[in-house]
Amino acid sequence: MNKRQEIKKFDVIVVGCGVAGLSAAVAAAEAGAKVAVLERSTFDERGGNTRYTEATLRMKNEQEVSGDFESLLVENSGYHVQPDFLASTVLDYENWPPLVRASSFTDPELISFFVESVPDVIAWLKQRGIRFGSTGFYGLIPRPSPRIAIAGGGLQLVETLTPFAEKLGVQFFYETTARDLIQSETGTVCGLIASNKFNQPIRFEGGPVILACGGFQGNAEMVVRYIGPKGRYLRPISRGGYYNKGEGIEMGLRAGAAPSGDFAEYHGQPIDPRSSASEPIVMVYPYGVLVNRQGLRFLDEAPGPIDSNYEEAVRTVAEQKKGIAFCILDDKINRIANWRRTVRTDQPPESAPDIRTLGKRLGFDGDAAQRTVDEYNRCCVEGNFNPETMDGLSTVGLTPPKSNYAVPLDTAPYHAYPITSANTFTFGGLKVNTNAQVVTQAGEALVGLYAAGETAGIYYGRYPGATSVLRGAVLGRRAGEHAAALIKG
Ligand SMILES: Cc1cc2nc3c(=O)[nH]c(=O)nc-3n(C[C@H](O)[C@H](O)[C@H](O)COP(=O)(O)OP(=O)(O)OC[C@H]3O[C@@H](n4cnc5c(N)ncnc54)[C@H](O)[C@@H]3O)c2cc1C
Repeated sequence: MNKRQEIKKFDVIVVGCGVAGLSAAVAAAEAGAKVAVLERSTFDERGGNTRYTEATLRMKNEQEVSGDFESLLVENSGYHVQPDFLASTVLDYENWPPLVRASSFTDPELISFFVESVPDVIAWLKQRGIRFGSTGFYGLIPRPSPRIAIAGGGLQLVETLTPFAEKLGVQFFYETTARDLIQSETGTVCGLIASNKFNQPIRFEGGPVILACGGFQGNAEMVVRYIGPKGRYLRPISRGGYYNKGEGIEMGLRAGAAPSGDFAEYHGQPIDPRSSASEPIVMVYPYGVLVNRQGLRFLDEAPGPIDSNYEEAVRTVAEQKKGIAFCILDDKINRIANWRRTVRTDQPPESAPDIRTLGKRLGFDGDAAQRTVDEYNRCCVEGNFNPETMDGLSTVGLTPPKSNYAVPLDTAPYHAYPITSANTFTFGGLKVNTNAQVVTQAGEALVGLYAAGETAGIYYGRYPGATSVLRGAVLGRRAGEHAAALIKG
């Protein structure tokens, strides 16, 4: 061992101080453990994605999750899973074949545990000072399923739980990045090696490690490695995501963890690339058309409620040349009184008397876009336009069709927003059981290692919106409780 290495001793070592890490730290400290929290950022920037989230929660009220919460998790829990693997999940977990326990799908048992734990974790957070309230929405039509939110968003959670944890004796180490796990001769995880901002090593020894350090959205190499070449164009949706560079997932995989969650996917949102604001979303495109740099349409802009469709749409935007598209509107947009509710970018749309000029200014083929809009206009038919419902006003004879809000774009000045796909968080992570223990490729719990929040992979395909903060709280709290019990045991 390097003689100059600093050594610190703790019962439980938590990596990351977003919702998952703070929930873990509080739960472990309340159970009597001496807890360290390692955080790569400065104190002022702490909290990763949690710091920036509005923290909407897919719930009817503080006691009940939304009706589609569980079914969406189940629908997005894996691909083409072998029927006999699924059949064996009706047995008690201990009797599942190890191959099944290590398989890349979200265990039904974990989904049930997650769903059932939500009301209890809300009550637990309330007892620790977190307040909840209602939330608005960015579209013009209500979301298909209800939401509540943390009052003051994730920032309130970070600012409330940090001093709460400190009062319990939790010690925070900022500008300290976890790099490598320490395992005993029997394989138990019993600490980790971190580095300070000068890249000097620090050993944290003594107890279990809880990896709550986000996904890999802030690591350009991992994003391209797993998500593919379009990953070049996916920037984190806010500053916090840049801190999540995937070390937690890599450390776990190196130690033999089974991967879980969709490594090829991410939670995408349409944003204005000209903006430096957090979450500068642009959700107005259903009322116009989307063209790529070649000036061509490539999808149905309004197949259904935007809340259920924007993720698939923006992933398609990421596949266009340079990962960018342009939302073209005409001046009739200003007849929709509250259309600005659909955008959160701090940049105004580019406006011009004609579409060709918009193309020159924003970098798309304006001549081709004009031809695209002419064809679209020819395929619009008479009908009742209503931006506040799915009006069914569809194009006729156009490929791809536009299934709602199809009115001609014919009134100057024209307006356009550039749109790229943000990477809110990545889906690929470590497989965990209902104790938030990391599961190995051999299907056994990796003793001493836990994962919570984005580091624990549970989503495949489409993200069931407004469930990720809850994932962090539920798994983080469970990890903290179990890790504290482990050291006592
Ligand atoms: C703008 C925005 C809006 C969102 N809206 C919603 C929403 O409405 N509802 C919802 O449920 N979800 C939403 N999400 C997603 C949700 O906020 C996050 O997925 C969740 O908060 C992640 O929590 P976490 O604790 O797993 O990770 P994070 O909150 O990202 O925390 C991870 C922490 O680990 C630290 N870290 C990373 N690597 C290391 C390392 N090697 N060593 C030490 N520290 C490290 C990071 O600096 C960070 O502080 C949103 C996210 C964003 C960014």
